[in-house]
Amino acid sequence: MDLVSPRSAYFSAGLLAFFLLAGCGDSAPGDRPASGTPASPPASGAAVMDQDELPAPEVASIYVEEVGTLAGHAPVVEALAYLESIEPRSLQDLIRLTEIPAPPFMEEERAAAFAEMLREAGADSVWIDGIGNVLGLRRGTVGDRTVAVDAHLDTVFPIETDVTVQIRGDTLFAPGIGDDTRGLIVVRNVLEAMVAHDLRTEADLLFIGTVGEEGLGDLRGVKYLFGTDGVSEEGLRIDAFIAVDGGDETRIVNQGVGSHRYRVTFQGPGGHSWGAFGLANPHNALAAAITHFVASADAHTADGPRTSYNIGRIGGGTSVNSIPFESWMEVDMRSLDNTSLQALDALFQQAVQRGLDDENALRRRGAALTVDVDMVGDRPAGTLDPSATPLIQRAMAVIGHLGGEPAIGSGSTNANTPISLGIPAVTIGRGGDGGGAHALDEWWLPVNPHLATQNALLLTLAEAGFGG
Ligand SMILES: [Zn+2]
Repeated sequence: MDLVSPRSAYFSAGLLAFFLLAGCGDSAPGDRPASGTPASPPASGAAVMDQDELPAPEVASIYVEEVGTLAGHAPVVEALAYLESIEPRSLQDLIRLTEIPAPPFMEEERAAAFAEMLREAGADSVWIDGIGNVLGLRRGTVGDRTVAVDAHLDTVFPIETDVTVQIRGDTLFAPGIGDDTRGLIVVRNVLEAMVAHDLRTEADLLFIGTVGEEGLGDLRGVKYLFGTDGVSEEGLRIDAFIAVDGGDETRIVNQGVGSHRYRVTFQGPGGHSWGAFGLANPHNALAAAITHFVASADAHTADGPRTSYNIGRIGGGTSVNSIPFESWMEVDMRSLDNTSLQALDALFQQAVQRGLDDENALRRRGAALTVDVDMVGDRPAGTLDPSATPLIQRAMAVIGHLGGEPAIGSGSTNANTPISLGIPAVTIGRGGDGGGAHALDEWWLPVNPHLATQNALLLTLAEAGFGG
């Protein structure tokens, strides 16, 4: 049997239905599929990341050969087969982790469960760092480098969300089941396979579950790991970073989409629209700020690296006959290039000041308006040259070895932070079939799911130097 053929059947629908009926009793209450219920995932698979897919460049022959040799070693062949064999029982762990809510800033319980999984998988040591990330160490034979394999613990869903996994046919439905709980299972399975088959690497390996990847979490977990959050530096040095946080295992993210997000609030005394006429009006300032910003941002984004801006929300005011005391907006700016993002940000700051000055100049009485500019999101951008970065070359070679057609693209993931620092980093897929990320009807279907764990294992071994 070709152990790593992507086209080999995973297991029959009937077998899976049997497993789901027989194997998940501890954690999947509610509707069970009737035996033989066909899988019927929703038709629309929402994009998991901001993908701007590009054809992958050539893979240099040294990496093709490296991966081919690596995958031919007997213990590696066995480990690859092992990864396929543990997929059925991995579903139980996926369900168990998915059913532990993990909203941003509330990842503790899931972190504890994931730490236990890494211990059971045989990590040399497991700990939870100062911000809540789970780290499992597998020591290398040389230990002069460290390669990290990561997935994120948090979901976008508030604590009250029902995260019970519903199984219909072969499809698993639950908020967060794919993004990124399945990623955590990939990380755990890679460690388990390495321990079970005594695969050693030259570099130290860190198996990580990070906090705060989503939304207002603002990459706080990965920023902590790399010491870029200004909060802490625990002396970790990570030389290469592999994030498991995409869908399709043939996709590679080598470009981090950076973003700046702001909440801007103009404030004034407010008053009666007739009686207090002449007071500065915060809405007028906000409108002027938007007008100035859009004019300059439009020119800035017309060419150069792809860069975007969006006024996402505006609000404030009391009634139609009141001069508001407050007017606010939430703004998102993104770019593949940090310089372009910084320049756009500067235009934004100028526009806000101009809006404030315009309205204060029109004021006939009362106190001047003030403005608060609150940064609520800051994700660094960066791109790694896929032709010149061994980690990306290896990622493409591994996908090709497993029979896939690699595609590269952009995303906003934990890899942003190391990429922006010039540290080799990549985001790879969690595999299977899935969709509805960030939606309540998120689904995941285990179609050849072992391809993603095999992909992650081979990439980790290649990057960390297979030591036997
Ligand atoms: Zn994610």
